[in-house]
Amino acid sequence: MRRIYLLPLTTLALGLVAWSAALEAEQPEIPPIEVHQLSDTLHMLGSGMSTGGNIAMLVAESGVVLVDTKNEGYGPTILELVQEITDKPVVMIINTHVHFDHSGANTEFPDTVHYVAHENIRRHWARTDCAPIPTNCDDFQGENRKYLPQTTFSDRMSLFAGTPDQIDLYYFGRGHTDGDTFVVFKEARAMHVGDMFLGRTLPFIDGQNGNGGSAIEFGRTLTKVIDNVPDVDIIINGHWDTPMEWSDLVSYRGFYVDLYNQTRASIDAGLTAEEAIATYEKPARYAEFTANKCCGNFTVDPIVNYIFQGI
Ligand SMILES: [Zn+2]
Ligand SMILES: [Zn+2]
Repeated sequence: MRRIYLLPLTTLALGLVAWSAALEAEQPEIPPIEVHQLSDTLHMLGSGMSTGGNIAMLVAESGVVLVDTKNEGYGPTILELVQEITDKPVVMIINTHVHFDHSGANTEFPDTVHYVAHENIRRHWARTDCAPIPTNCDDFQGENRKYLPQTTFSDRMSLFAGTPDQIDLYYFGRGHTDGDTFVVFKEARAMHVGDMFLGRTLPFIDGQNGNGGSAIEFGRTLTKVIDNVPDVDIIINGHWDTPMEWSDLVSYRGFYVDLYNQTRASIDAGLTAEEAIATYEKPARYAEFTANKCCGNFTVDPIVNYIFQGI
């Protein structure tokens, strides 16, 4: 008797396992987002390496303000996380720059959200010819033009000024793109720096896609940030999994400017770009940063080549 009943049950169990495995295959899981609390009202929605850029989330008096929205498809997940933290609705989205891994879910929020971005970001997104990539202007065509930023700024702007929710936006010039915005949460003494400091690696300079990145200006822009932005302790990087500190930003500026200066010296010495890359040596004091010579993004190679080309 026992055997007769066991066999069909085993078959049924195996069938269920196969069926649920098939369902999982149909709906690929998106990597989860890790939440870091930085103050009473400020959170970082992280996992920026696998999910798109890190988000800063402020629970303001009037509602939730988000800085960046990760890759396309993360809108519902972000809203779920917001609802676990507060009952307040998302009322404002600010973007650090034009790229799809920081604005991919912008159009997945209710259109009651108010969008704020640098004027150059809006200009790129408002283009009707979206080539070449990698901007995110595809997302803002046709019906979705309603998601283009309603508020833009050129150099500096304060939101919720004079309240505990004050957010200061700064633009200091070209770097990763031509719209890199530094977003300071005054009370929390925290700043989202986007991909101007994405982590402990060399930056990607978007110098070839019409997005205005500049390897020559990158270090100067970071220096303007360090010289002009007061009272910041916590740094939210574009893609690093944990928050960093102001001193990390200062060190990173030194690391980049040293590469720039070494390249400039190679140009003055009459070397080729290839020779300049071969000659580059990372100083021991920047051991915490990765500086592979080649190839592709986040390496010495494209940065030196851009400097040689005057980009
Ligand atoms: Zn990014
Ligand atoms: Zn970027």
